[in-house]
Amino acid sequence: MLNIGCHLSASKGYLHMGKEAKSINANTFQFFTRNPRGGKAKDIDENDVKAFIEFAKENNFSQILAHAPYTLNPCSKDEHIREFALNTMADDLRRMEYTPYQLYNFHPGSHVGQGVEIGIDFIVKQLNTVLTPDMTTTVLLETMAGKGSEIGRSFEELKEILDGVKLDNKMGVCMDTCHIYDAGYDIVNDLDGVLDEFDRIIGLDRLCAIHMNDSKNPFESHKDRHEKIGEGSIGFDTMVKVINNPRLQGIPILLETPNELDGYAHEIEILRNAYKG
Ligand code: FE
Ligand code: FE
Ligand code: ZN
Repeated sequence: MLNIGCHLSASKGYLHMGKEAKSINANTFQFFTRNPRGGKAKDIDENDVKAFIEFAKENNFSQILAHAPYTLNPCSKDEHIREFALNTMADDLRRMEYTPYQLYNFHPGSHVGQGVEIGIDFIVKQLNTVLTPDMTTTVLLETMAGKGSEIGRSFEELKEILDGVKLDNKMGVCMDTCHIYDAGYDIVNDLDGVLDEFDRIIGLDRLCAIHMNDSKNPFESHKDRHEKIGEGSIGFDTMVKVINNPRLQGIPILLETPNELDGYAHEIEILRNAYKG
């Protein structure tokens, strides 16, 4: 089963996103919980949510992925920025419960010179504050390219965060193909070796979502610039290997490539055609 979709605008609500996804032959999607730069979230429309849940069931949607604003930095040096991250995530997670059992992804953060260990401590502290035993959402750490002082550039760093979280059964990982390639995991020449390493360090049972992006930059460049599928340094063949890998079956795959809806429709079509399952 290939569960695939792309990033969509949330401005017209859940049902609209569901229909938009269906119109491009997707059965999942990603959206920002609020303006990607932060700010206040739109009020939840309970009728819209109910209609979406029904629609998703009828159309065999897999889990959908909510993405935290990318300005959220739980390990900033600045207390106010950390507080903003905490309040934003807590509010996002409250809102996520309107659509139970879905996924919430965030970038672990940038330690801005304080060092990885201090950064990881702040991230763990935030997660231990916002996660609650009764929540149904799974919170995902995204694998990062290692730009600047980004935390999450290695599987070991993510594992260290997971190890610090008390309610770690609420946690998972979202693997971004562009980011891990930029970070130095050679999925082009040794996808299975990378998956082995992920499994050994984190555990593949933690892998809950995949961001599928090609990269504008070469291997190990630590840059994080997404490219259209097949047009970057990773290439189409590797993407085909990813979607057909026996260990990655069923995991929702989300495109974050530089595209409008028609471009996403095209990428979903070529990937579905290349799927052998
Ligand atoms: Fe992301
Ligand atoms: Fe991503
Ligand atoms: Zn990225």
